[in-house]
Amino acid sequence: MAKEEAPLHFIEHIVEDDLKAGYKQEELKFRFPPEPNGYLHIGHASSICLNFGLGERYKAPVNLRFDDTNPTKEEQEFVDAIKRDIEWLGFEWAEECYASDYFQQLYDWAVQLIKDGKAYVDSQTSILIAEQKGTPNEPGIESPFRNRPVEESLALFEKMKNGEVKEGEHVLRAKIDMASGNMLMRDPVMYRVVNKAHHRTGSNWKIYPMYDWAHGQSDYLEQVSHSLCTLEFLPHRELYDWFLDQLYDDKKLRPKQREFARRNLSHTVVSKRKLAKLVEEGVVTGWDDPRMPTISGLRRRGYTPDSIRNFADSIGVGKRENMIDVSHLEFNVREDLNKKAPRIMAVLDPVKVVITNYPEGKEEWLEAENNQEDESAGYREVPFSRELYIEKEDFREEANRKFFRLKIGKEVRLKNAYIIKAESCTKDSEGNITEIQCTYDPESKSGSGTEASQRKVKGTLHWVSVPHAVPAEVRLYDRLFTVPAPDGDKEKDFMEFLNPNSLQIVRAAAEPSVKDLKEGDNVQFQRLGYFVIDKESSPEAVIFNRTVPLRDSWAKLKD
Ligand code: ATP
Ligand code: MG
Repeated sequence: MAKEEAPLHFIEHIVEDDLKAGYKQEELKFRFPPEPNGYLHIGHASSICLNFGLGERYKAPVNLRFDDTNPTKEEQEFVDAIKRDIEWLGFEWAEECYASDYFQQLYDWAVQLIKDGKAYVDSQTSILIAEQKGTPNEPGIESPFRNRPVEESLALFEKMKNGEVKEGEHVLRAKIDMASGNMLMRDPVMYRVVNKAHHRTGSNWKIYPMYDWAHGQSDYLEQVSHSLCTLEFLPHRELYDWFLDQLYDDKKLRPKQREFARRNLSHTVVSKRKLAKLVEEGVVTGWDDPRMPTISGLRRRGYTPDSIRNFADSIGVGKRENMIDVSHLEFNVREDLNKKAPRIMAVLDPVKVVITNYPEGKEEWLEAENNQEDESAGYREVPFSRELYIEKEDFREEANRKFFRLKIGKEVRLKNAYIIKAESCTKDSEGNITEIQCTYDPESKSGSGTEASQRKVKGTLHWVSVPHAVPAEVRLYDRLFTVPAPDGDKEKDFMEFLNPNSLQIVRAAAEPSVKDLKEGDNVQFQRLGYFVIDKESSPEAVIFNRTVPLRDSWAKLKD
């Protein structure tokens, strides 16, 4: 379905209603606001596609705003990775913004709130403050410092700013309502002292604003019209609005917060904190490990930007949280790579075939179609010779009639080549097959038009010529967790559900054209799946990552 024809999702309905109610289209503005405390994951991709999708639909700017208000967890490395990932997905932000650029303005506004009697410095410990919060059914207790003189709060706030007080000694709180039914309205903390250099502002600031104080004001400063966040922020909306009420100038556009459901993916965790734990504990090799649900992990795994965008669009924007099965993501990458990935032949678990009636020393370069789904992909040549590799599992000495692969006395076609017949095989002392002797029909060359070439044989096998084979390391990845919701169990830690077999490394034999592939090039290994050249690969030591097998092997297990 073309994008224009897709039904509007509920956020688009909100925007449409606002346009009807008097918003001008040129006033629309959106933002994507990551905290640079980790790499973006597939859940963020939903939020990115939502915000940038609105930007495209309404021809409105979309800012990239780093919500960098907590120097204890944030780093430049994460800022760089986030920008790289959004660009790779194919989106362009209007302005690159940082909440830290607004620190002075936020501070000035906070001083104004103190002067207006809307904020005060509390000198209690955070434990005591938490105890006084009350419960949803009981009002909280007002701090003894709540009504301290404005001058005193101003002086203490100044000291906090100048680094003259220790962490936790004082905080600045909004003076709202300790009996509010919304716990977040019970005098929320606006500022705390943090003695840590910030990746952008260095040691200029000793106080840092809390999320609620920074976020809405940043939206307001950037004149974002619709500030979209995930559902857990629904109770924050009242506070978002309260803060705006204190400073809103009615000549300006007033941003509104609206919420949508977080997207969760099965068999993984989509939380930067949990993903960071996998990295820190060495369960994976890094944020871009191909098993990670991060954008950079998916990229290294061989996912394309289109496959991720199509996935995000297909699951849509929802009002209720749900879990999307990872097979749906895999479906999208298969669909995309089926159209785009050139086909090649590689054998993952090789056994040697000798064609006894093929002349020794002879080689032929046979024409092979690069992608039957895409005529423009053209042809390449693959070498054929007397000795070939096929997959071990494609041969059996004896097998029933349903085994359409190679068995003694029966014929199969070698893809793009000849029909061969197995005559005998050699085994080692343990009974493992070490070599298969075959004969070939010289008249049966694929595409030659001869009668023999058109003979119907049941099976077609992929193969690689032994003397031309390029050895390759192939990394076969599987799901990182064995259960659909590793973090859904209250009793157990998500780390207990790690799949011990999420990586298997095999030595494969590939056709020589793989030498021309570069990092990130996607291919289909015929009959096996989609693979991509890893960043650690070199022409001397080729390394592939398996993106996904051709078929969903987990679905088969369930049958
Ligand atoms: P995490 O828990 O992984 O750190 P977060 O929500 O704290 O996620 P932010 O960097 O604050 O991460 O998120 C940036 C934006 O992405 C926010 O608007 C957030 O609501 C959205 N987002 C994060 N996770 C998801 C998800 N799983 N599905 C949809 N949107 C998400
Ligand atoms: Mg967060």
